[in-house]
Amino acid sequence: MEYKNFINGKWVDDHHQNHFPVYNPSTGEILGNVPKISKEQVSEAIDSASAAFPAWSKLTAEKRGKYLKRLYQLILNHKNELGELITLEQGKPLKEAIGEVVYGAGFVEWYSEEAKRIRGDMLPSSHTDKRIMVIKQPVGVVAAITPWNFPFAMITRKIAPALAAGCTVIIKPASQTPLCAIKLIELLDEAGFPKGVVNLVTGDSKEIGETFLEDFRVRKITFTGSTAVGKHLYKSSAATMKRLSLELGGHAPFILFDDGNMNNAVAGAIASKFRNCGQVCIASNRFYIHSSIRTEFIEKLVTGIQLLKQGDGLEKDIDLGPLIDGKAYEKISSQIKDAVSKGAVIECGGKGKSPDHPGNGGYFYEPTVLSNVTPDMKIYQEETFGPVLPIIEFKNDNEVIEMANATTYGLAAYLYTESLSRGIQVSEALEYGIVGLNDGAPSSVQAPFGGFKESGLDREGGHYGIEPFLETKYISIGL
Ligand code: ADP
Repeated sequence: MEYKNFINGKWVDDHHQNHFPVYNPSTGEILGNVPKISKEQVSEAIDSASAAFPAWSKLTAEKRGKYLKRLYQLILNHKNELGELITLEQGKPLKEAIGEVVYGAGFVEWYSEEAKRIRGDMLPSSHTDKRIMVIKQPVGVVAAITPWNFPFAMITRKIAPALAAGCTVIIKPASQTPLCAIKLIELLDEAGFPKGVVNLVTGDSKEIGETFLEDFRVRKITFTGSTAVGKHLYKSSAATMKRLSLELGGHAPFILFDDGNMNNAVAGAIASKFRNCGQVCIASNRFYIHSSIRTEFIEKLVTGIQLLKQGDGLEKDIDLGPLIDGKAYEKISSQIKDAVSKGAVIECGGKGKSPDHPGNGGYFYEPTVLSNVTPDMKIYQEETFGPVLPIIEFKNDNEVIEMANATTYGLAAYLYTESLSRGIQVSEALEYGIVGLNDGAPSSVQAPFGGFKESGLDREGGHYGIEPFLETKYISIGL
């Protein structure tokens, strides 16, 4: 299957017929080829988004909202097909993939409504013959660079608020997972969005990124991905002073206090660690368990994990799919090896299954629990992005808060306690943008998603998520 890019309302191939393959991470099979688009054509996509901007931004918010509402319906009508594409190119179990489509559609619906709620102010002046008017206007052309772990929802979480605000966009999906993005564009086209309002390019990430960065007309980059690339975009955006929204890595602590509800905590730990095979930026990565209940927690956790079924995400009742690639497999293996060499104990799992020959798929890792984890281990310091659950013991609240905050990351944190005042006090003390208080799955369309510290800039979701696509203009009126 040969796929195309979408520029100025037309499906186009790379001028030089350069392509790259997309693999099924379960099997290593090639699913299709997508264009490795030339730099000139990326500039054409920017031309197209710039040309479409004046008319799109001048539409009433209600009209922009109607386009999004149509798109929302089309996504829901195609949710099974989109879910299957996600499973094929990304690997997650089909039920999770369809869940991602519905979650992603939720952003389109939310911002179809939020467009109408963009507000300004009329303020009293210090002068009787003046008035102060404050209005919000779209920032301009937006480049949306997205990751492979949520290949659908990370696009809608960015482009729906951008389009609602009146911006035009160029999407650069992750190279591993462009197919569901291309399907989304087909639906956008069917929804009747004017030409140039949404464009999609695939190819060399670095080259496309540089083209966006160099071009003054791209007024904003919205990015989800690694902290390293996020920092590069932050630095390089200075030259043209682009607006930036960054959703970067995480290293989430999960704290179970001695008064926590054990069964809920075990279910929350499994949900937050093993969804998408641990390849989630808000996945719990350091499990701090009160020493008095450590043994019981490990027993119940291991029992729960033994019920999880791993395999090709299209098969029935699968809970964990493959890892995205061999690099992910190597990172997990090396973190486990390092931890065991420094005294960690494998409570369950600990083994992987890689293909007979190094290839482009077929890398699986068993859900693994490590106990006796200590700060000198790599797994304690680095984001894992895999199904490994490291356990650390603690004895008192101040000690665990200090350990939980001792990282440069600040995306998500979780805690389990039945004490209201402890729950509130610890939630407030955690230096994280998202806190799951007795909740292992906090992502939600209406809530602000984003991190403190090196986990990023700005928030996505809810009414918070449209602000980063708006400029504030002050008009001083003399009477
Ligand atoms: P991951 O390690 O999860 O793949 P990346 O940060 O490498 O995270 O990728 C996230 C997104 O950023 C993907 O769409 C990827 O293609 C893109 N990307 C990678 N490197 C660059 C770069 N130098 N400039 C712009 N985008 C990039």
